Amino acid sequence: MERAGEYYSVSEIFGENVFNDAVMQERLPKKVYQKMKQTISEGRELDLATADVVAHEMKEWAIEKGATHYTHWFQPMTGVTAEKHDSFITAPMENGKVLMSFSGKELIKGEPDASSFPSGGLRATFEARGYTAWDCTSPAFVRQDAAGATLCIPTAFCSYTGEALDQKTPLLRSMEAVNKQAIRLLRLFDNQTSKKVTASVGPEQEYFIVDREKYLKRKDLIFTGRTLFGAMPPKGQEMDDHYFGAIRERIAAYMRDVNKELWKLGVSAKTQHNEVAPAQHELAPIYATANVAVDHNQLVMETLKKIAGRHGLQCLLHEKPFAGVNGSGKHNNWSITTDDGINLLDPGVTPHQNVQFLLVLTCILKAVDIHADLLRESAADVGNDHRLGANEAPPAIISVYLGEQLQDVLTQLISTGSATHSLKGSKLETGVTTLPDFMKDATDRNRTSPFAFTGNKFEFRMVGSQDSIAQPNVVLNTIVAEAFSEACDVLEKAKEEDNFEMAVHNLIKEYATEHQRVVFNGNGYSDEWVEEAEKRGLPNIKSMVDAIPALNTEKSVKLFEKFGVFTKAELDSRVEIEYETYAKEINIEARAMIDIAGKQIIPAVIKYTTALATSLSAVAAACGDADISVQKELLVEVSDLLSDTKKALAALQDVTEQGASMEEGRAQAVFYRDTVKSAMDALRAPVDKLEMLVDKDMWPMPSYGDLIFEV
Ligand code: ADP
Ligand code: MG
Repeated sequence: MERAGEYYSVSEIFGENVFNDAVMQERLPKKVYQKMKQTISEGRELDLATADVVAHEMKEWAIEKGATHYTHWFQPMTGVTAEKHDSFITAPMENGKVLMSFSGKELIKGEPDASSFPSGGLRATFEARGYTAWDCTSPAFVRQDAAGATLCIPTAFCSYTGEALDQKTPLLRSMEAVNKQAIRLLRLFDNQTSKKVTASVGPEQEYFIVDREKYLKRKDLIFTGRTLFGAMPPKGQEMDDHYFGAIRERIAAYMRDVNKELWKLGVSAKTQHNEVAPAQHELAPIYATANVAVDHNQLVMETLKKIAGRHGLQCLLHEKPFAGVNGSGKHNNWSITTDDGINLLDPGVTPHQNVQFLLVLTCILKAVDIHADLLRESAADVGNDHRLGANEAPPAIISVYLGEQLQDVLTQLISTGSATHSLKGSKLETGVTTLPDFMKDATDRNRTSPFAFTGNKFEFRMVGSQDSIAQPNVVLNTIVAEAFSEACDVLEKAKEEDNFEMAVHNLIKEYATEHQRVVFNGNGYSDEWVEEAEKRGLPNIKSMVDAIPALNTEKSVKLFEKFGVFTKAELDSRVEIEYETYAKEINIEARAMIDIAGKQIIPAVIKYTTALATSLSAVAAACGDADISVQKELLVEVSDLLSDTKKALAALQDVTEQGASMEEGRAQAVFYRDTVKSAMDALRAPVDKLEMLVDKDMWPMPSYGDLIFEV
């Protein structure tokens, strides 16, 4: 496909629609620019006078890009972003003309009508005021699409009394928590120069692409994002011929446009490849500061969907669009780095840094072991129940993969109290006789671990493909902040008593010993691991409904309140929202199934049985001795399945009505999971069998084969 005139320089378009540092430096008066920089780096509040100047320049810049509207762009508890557009125009003047204006107040604060967003009882509707506040650490951008150009201002969304109603607010609070505690830890190791520690995140996004015409013939995909019926095609993913395979022309053209759009928005889309399942792909950006990464991941998801439409394609972000075919997730790569470039998860080059590294590492082991339930919960969404704990990667049990060499170091520490040698590789010295010298990149790959150390970062592989990555990072930041804080409490005291070296050594050993049960380097997909994990007492939380209670246990409330990330009221509200979301989503799936089975499948099967019966009598009439046993058997088989389908449909209708009439809360969610979902499975079974028997021309929707092999 020749696309003349469409070649461009990436470096020229990169970030062209972002009000980034370069634009601010160029356009803002020097003093204002410096104030802005300071506000961003120190997380202070912007004064109104400065905000006015910034807003004016931002508006001028946006208008040059064609913007007519601005919006506070925020992330309520719906899993997606929300926006309300306001145009820049002011009331017409006497001469009938309008001015374009945008004030500092409008930039830093908005008051959308918040009553329709989930609040889990935090905010009674009569006082439905919520407000959005500019997160100036994530730059504003102009989005150009069919709606025209809109200036988007990333914001946090709170209730009138300051309670978080979104994903962003707790994330910013958790980043502050880990920053504070990590700095404390660095000071203990005589680092007096680093001023700030930031969590960095690189999310790898998986998705499916199908043909839009075919998609539009599948009501299940339209209403729920996944197929609710569908027999397996003759070929699945068993050949592994899609993974990293050559990217087809149509998909390549799509990816090209996605990249261009993302680059303009300053999203550093970096790698792309085909994934394990047919029609499955992955996109990963270069990692960024956690809150920017969260915003960018939302942009990636929006862009993947939007651009697909332009290519006659449909992007499916659901965790499990097709039963029996690999699902989609999001690998959340996470590390913590100082403003002067020190990655705390990097083993480092001096002995000093290596001791620090071992302390950081064992603190993380401790955090993950103690709060495994919270991490698991952070990856729970309705679609992800089809992956976690459902015989698919990754398992629902949280464990940490360290690799052979680090494991060996820890084992020595635990068994002898000192580790004096390193397993392999060229050595990095620790300079401490009781700590080993080791080599930094002896970590090999383990794809089956939900939480793997990969050289200088941890890769949390449980997150669902359509879920926001905010909550997993809120949890990671906060639990690590807690572990750091507890270590610092001990070590600061030891330092005063001049006993630091010994105290660090003891602490590393203590944490490694007490939390070694969470380390697992074997095959996380095996049944043996499930048994072994149970023996070790590790939680194996198989569903979202069972994960939710972790949010407001006493342990969780204590943790989040200590670091000012969530109040108990905020946690309680999130618990409520999650149960509601679960029940609502399953209810929609059940109703979609009822609709499709009743209006499309049963009528199609009746048509087919009528055709069979007609053929039967026609053949018998034409030739009295003909063998019509095949038609007969088929007619009986199809009719029996049709009757099963009708019964299962009636049963599903019953329980769905029952579920919908229940009071919202845990009991309702449990009912949907145990009773409604089973009734859905019971309806799907005969329908999938019918699909294998009924004339393809009469089947009312495209098959799995049509969807995933013919893109
Ligand atoms: P793979 O599929 O081999 O795991 P990818 O290249 O697809 O690797 O994705 C790795 C992701 O991890 C990228 O987004 C990358 O930018 C990110 N990453 C790399 N180093 C770090 C780090 N120190 N902290 C956080 N994320 C990182
Ligand atoms: Mg990858």
